[in-house]
Amino acid sequence: MDTRTYTVDFDVQHIRKDFPILHQIVHGYPLAYFDNAATTQKPQCVIDTIVNYYTHLNSNIHRGVHYLSEQSTNLYEEARKTVQQFINAQYSQEVIFTSGTTAAINAVAFSFGERFVKEGDEIVISAMEHHANIVPWQMMCERKGARLKVIPIDNKGEILFDEYLKLLTPKVKLVAVTHVSNVLGTINPIEKIIDTAHNHNIPVLIDGAQSVQHIPIDVQALDCDFFVFSGHKIYGPTGIGILYGKEKWLNEMPPYQGGGDMVDCVTFEKTTYNDLPLKFEAGTTNFIGAIGLAEAIRYLTRIGLDKVGKYENQLLAYAKEKLSSFERIQFYGTAPKKGPVISFLIDGIHPYDTGMVLDKLGIAVRTGTHCAQPLMDFFDIDGTVRVSLSFYNTFEEIDRLTQGIKKVIDMFG
Ligand code: PLP
Repeated sequence: MDTRTYTVDFDVQHIRKDFPILHQIVHGYPLAYFDNAATTQKPQCVIDTIVNYYTHLNSNIHRGVHYLSEQSTNLYEEARKTVQQFINAQYSQEVIFTSGTTAAINAVAFSFGERFVKEGDEIVISAMEHHANIVPWQMMCERKGARLKVIPIDNKGEILFDEYLKLLTPKVKLVAVTHVSNVLGTINPIEKIIDTAHNHNIPVLIDGAQSVQHIPIDVQALDCDFFVFSGHKIYGPTGIGILYGKEKWLNEMPPYQGGGDMVDCVTFEKTTYNDLPLKFEAGTTNFIGAIGLAEAIRYLTRIGLDKVGKYENQLLAYAKEKLSSFERIQFYGTAPKKGPVISFLIDGIHPYDTGMVLDKLGIAVRTGTHCAQPLMDFFDIDGTVRVSLSFYNTFEEIDRLTQGIKKVIDMFG
């Protein structure tokens, strides 16, 4: 490795000790985990928090006067405040716990749609969205007789801003775009996207599933109306996610699920609903997931997201340089501003074959459409090989990936 260009001010070996899963042998090789955009590994402190909770504290929240229930409730509401601070929401009740990004987008699509969208209205998304930020809007459009409009992109994987501007008509009720593409890595200019939409009085939802673990988020500075992300992609447990919404919207939106906790008073004639945030948290939530997510956020904050971002950018630059040495590699997503995601194909070799050979060398990458079929159609391909990096990856692992790809090319000719 040439350390002259990649000056690393990051003790990655020390960090790696926090992640027990990384220290295992897969098919005879040390695991090199490059599937972080799908899900991230968990530091010991998150694992310990969950074990400790079930060992000593388990009890349902919000419903009990007894010791364990009070402890649980306090931890759950503290977790909400931890998320609030992490994304700099103005009020803690603007933070709603969901089961993930998908659930959060579905919640907005249903609830916002019920209240604000009517026949003939339009929703704007981009051509690089994950299915989670396409299908819920399509379902809502079908229900309401509205139409989905798509911001086109160029071959580098950047949205065509002029085309976006043309879409912003009075019919548009919401713009929903991803911050960072899970396939291309493109970091979208969300500040400009939000500002422009607001000039037309259109609210904006940002899908932060692939950004919140790499880039510091300040929802007040961004002035986004909704921001959503998943716990499992930010070193927390699975089954927990966040819907941030400005209070003014959430107050006006109807609940999308009915049940315990979301109610104020229930009679057979009429039910009145609880205030925020509980209005949107029907039934027993994944409270242990929320507590685990808060621990993950504290862990990441202790390391420092700025430091994490810088190190991951160096890894990305190194991986791009190394993989560019193969003439037969074609990259998808070459925007100048990118998160640590590289999608590629090796000319004449199916991505599945590439993934299989790498797996036999202990190297985990993802292959396929990455839940972005319309994006695959745009590039006229069936799928890609995706390498997605985290701050626990090393330059040496990227060297191993490079050697693995050489082996793939040698094998398949
Ligand atoms: N949005 C983006 C950009 C994603 O990358 C993903 C998952 O990969 C999702 C949404 C859906 O996340 P989840 O499956 O955690 O709900």
